[in-house]
Amino acid sequence: MVTKAITAAAVGINSCKIEVEVDVTNSLPSVCIVGLPDSAVSEAKERVHSAIKNSGFSFPTGKVIVNLAPADIRKEGTNFDLPIAIGILKEQGIDIKDDIHIGYLGELSLDGTLRKVNGILPLVSGLKNSGITSVFVPEENAKEAALVEGINVYGAKYLADIVNHFTDTPLQKTVIDINKYLEDNANTDFTYDFKDVKGQQKAKKALEIAAAGGHNILMSGSPGSGKTLMAKCLASILPPLELQEALELTKIYSISGMLRSDKPLMTKRPYRAVHHTASQNGIIGGGSNPKPGEITLAHRGVLFLDEMVEFPRQVLEVLRQPLEDGEVVISRAKNSIKYPAKFMLVGAMNPCPCGFLGDREKECSCSEFQIQRYRSKLSGPLLDRIDLVVNVPRLTTDELINMKSDSEPSSEIRKRVVKARKIQALRYAKEGIYTNSELSSKLIKKYCQLDEKTSEFLKTAAQKYQLSGRKFDRILKLARTIADIDGADNIRFEDVTQALQYRVEL
Ligand SMILES: [Zn+2]
Repeated sequence: MVTKAITAAAVGINSCKIEVEVDVTNSLPSVCIVGLPDSAVSEAKERVHSAIKNSGFSFPTGKVIVNLAPADIRKEGTNFDLPIAIGILKEQGIDIKDDIHIGYLGELSLDGTLRKVNGILPLVSGLKNSGITSVFVPEENAKEAALVEGINVYGAKYLADIVNHFTDTPLQKTVIDINKYLEDNANTDFTYDFKDVKGQQKAKKALEIAAAGGHNILMSGSPGSGKTLMAKCLASILPPLELQEALELTKIYSISGMLRSDKPLMTKRPYRAVHHTASQNGIIGGGSNPKPGEITLAHRGVLFLDEMVEFPRQVLEVLRQPLEDGEVVISRAKNSIKYPAKFMLVGAMNPCPCGFLGDREKECSCSEFQIQRYRSKLSGPLLDRIDLVVNVPRLTTDELINMKSDSEPSSEIRKRVVKARKIQALRYAKEGIYTNSELSSKLIKKYCQLDEKTSEFLKTAAQKYQLSGRKFDRILKLARTIADIDGADNIRFEDVTQALQYRVEL
């Protein structure tokens, strides 16, 4: 008799339903797994064998054939242990309800304990979408699984608990109030605050605009100007995550094995500071066993590249596509996977190799040629994708001593950011986007209209500064955000002139 148990396989940050078929034939005792398993899945036979025996059940005496269907999807990870064990137990005549609407996910240890697996949220979400109504998962994964609405989640500690559930001792359903959880765990405690940054009004305003519209920003300034500190302060003015954003992010961290079982939902926007020595696979994603890279881990948050010019040219160039599309495609031997990568790029750099070009106290020791070569490391097409470029001058010794430290605290700036984001969320509710930075060319025409005078002015500026079409669009998006911070319905002349100020030519 062939028995079945339903499970799922991860595909990128999504998943698809997998049927585990088990058959036992009268030949020498062995276990054979077919259907494109990776090495972790192949090793399941050893774990399942011991787990079944040590849970007090008998193991088949013939040849056990396990087929994972459909066969064309690569099966990775250890979540197949439990469904394989369930299939074998059913085959042995153990009384487990034979229902095609029940799913099983989990790794087994040799003594029959269920172990936490990665990617539970996308796996359960995929099962729910394919009509599964109940799912059994390791106890440690239960809260994360319960984030999926409309499916019954049962967390079990041991394999035997699941068998007992169908005979005499039903397991408790795990339920979580996701909206309340998100609200209760919202980010309110920040290490860096703008109130500790003296002066730098222009750079602070630029960061506020960037946060309000999700724009990319590059800060250029001498060492000691505070640009790195201000980049760190940015985290304290970002708006809270919307529920859908939180779920997207949780899927990414779940697949990456970076989710803690006591914190099933990502409730904070990520802030990923990447060093220029990081590998391309680490930043972009990929490798022999593909994993999301930093740009995906920064989804819906910030990717901070300090000393941006020091990054290998190739890495910076590979960033262009995700910056444009909001996703990254990782090619593999047989197929390719897409990961989301809608992040705010925040870059910092020195104005020249010695760092003091334009400084009011120290003299720059670089030649014109050295400066040119240094800046050319950032290509035009990459700079085209950066909405705000701002100079951050170092304060003079006199200013440092005498300037009053009465800077606006981050909590006040954040209020304006949140308000501007709400305006955008409402305006784009039917467009499937959240912020001005996500506007496509088509949507820019719809939402960034200018009056005649402003339009003429911008056209003249575009000719004068030889702005590319991409830059032109970015100025409009930026102007839209500046208007939103002010609560203005239409983009005004002053919004466009202000947006143009952030196009400092490097
Ligand atoms: Zn210099």
